[in-house]
Amino acid sequence: MYDVVVVGGGPSGSTAAEDLARSGRNVALLDRAGRIKPCGGAIPPRLIADFDIPDAQIVARVTTARMISPSGRRVDIPIENGFVGMVDREHFDEFLRARAASAGAARITGTFLRIERGGPTPSVIYRDKMSGEERALPTRLIIGADGARSNVARTEVPGGDRIPYVIAYHEIIAAPNAVGSYDPARCDVVYDGRISPDFYGWVFPHGESASVGMGSMVKGVDLKQATADLRAASGLSDCETLRREGAPIPLKPLARWDNGRDVVLAGDAAGVVAPSSGEGIFYAMVGGRVAATAAAACLASGRARDLRLARQLFMREHKTVFRVLGAMQDAYYRSDERRERFVSLCHDIDVQRLTFEAYMNKRLVRARPLAHLKIGLKNLAHLWRLVPPAYT
Ligand SMILES: Cc1cc2nc3c(=O)[nH]c(=O)nc-3n(C[C@H](O)[C@H](O)[C@H](O)COP(=O)(O)OP(=O)(O)OC[C@H]3O[C@@H](n4cnc5c(N)ncnc54)[C@H](O)[C@@H]3O)c2cc1C
Repeated sequence: MYDVVVVGGGPSGSTAAEDLARSGRNVALLDRAGRIKPCGGAIPPRLIADFDIPDAQIVARVTTARMISPSGRRVDIPIENGFVGMVDREHFDEFLRARAASAGAARITGTFLRIERGGPTPSVIYRDKMSGEERALPTRLIIGADGARSNVARTEVPGGDRIPYVIAYHEIIAAPNAVGSYDPARCDVVYDGRISPDFYGWVFPHGESASVGMGSMVKGVDLKQATADLRAASGLSDCETLRREGAPIPLKPLARWDNGRDVVLAGDAAGVVAPSSGEGIFYAMVGGRVAATAAAACLASGRARDLRLARQLFMREHKTVFRVLGAMQDAYYRSDERRERFVSLCHDIDVQRLTFEAYMNKRLVRARPLAHLKIGLKNLAHLWRLVPPAYT
């Protein structure tokens, strides 16, 4: 009998399993293995610090972010006092799973099938990878960390089958050597309706390789053609393509993360990815941590309502950032004219500082009221079209 079975060994599940194992709980980490999570792999310094990520996992250090507008204007934002880390999910996820196992979690390789509730406690039923047999893991609680389109969320939590998604697609290419304007220490973020009508495209360096991709919610958008166009525009058409892959990015956190009984969700399974940026690794790991805290509280008290703590703790810290990023996406990702204006705003040194402070350290700084006032006025001037799109 386990205290907790964690379904899914991505960043959220591995973090939850590690935290629970370190606090002395009997925990199993079930992952189906065999697929590398499609991901740009960008992580902020706050993640590296909070989750103790060793240097060896950082395959590239990005020191400039380049914003590119529909008309081709480029704004280079230097990343002051640090860098954005890039991880390779093939190795990063395995590192996290192995760390959870060395903390004491039982690692199980197989595919989650369902939850059965015949007796006083539930059992997680899975298909064992080696034998192909169905097996049962009796447990007191379950953490659903099985990613976007989570089976646990779909069957256990209201709304879990209706989370809205951006479909993201990217190609991993061999690192371009002195090709075009590619820089292994720069992330390019492309705001252009021809690449994505409602999200953005990117070129993210990964050391030996690079991720080039885009996302969209709009049905009928040809993701592969858009990525080919992005590669052509970035001078990367001739680089060797190592992998082509796509996956959904959830757009909205669920209103509830638990089933009021014995299941709590974490990470993409709970719909938790930052609007505007699609950043999900940091929030998945925080989600894993708060799910572990809630599960531990529930095990100690015997009160199922303690599972609600996961969402409460998360929202207490990150609700405002999600709200601001959501408003930004609604305002600026809707037309090329708005995207042009958005890149114009990025020229402002105070916008650059505040945005990157929020990204790097996950907090909104309120220290400079005049800078906030100026940004607010510029924002309104653009949204009310009082200035031309390229006005900086
Ligand atoms: C193309 C793309 C680019 C992205 N780029 C970035 C980026 O640059 N930076 C960033 O921060 N975020 C990025 N994201 C988002 C980020 O990848 C996710 O938010 C993050 O991986 C969520 O972590 P998770 O642990 O919740 O889920 P996942 O990483 O999806 O992990 C889920 C785990 O569950 C397992 N699983 C699923 N179903 C089952 C089952 N039935 N049985 C057993 N195991 C199962 C899977 O094997 C997997 O290991 C990107 C996403 C996409 C699609």
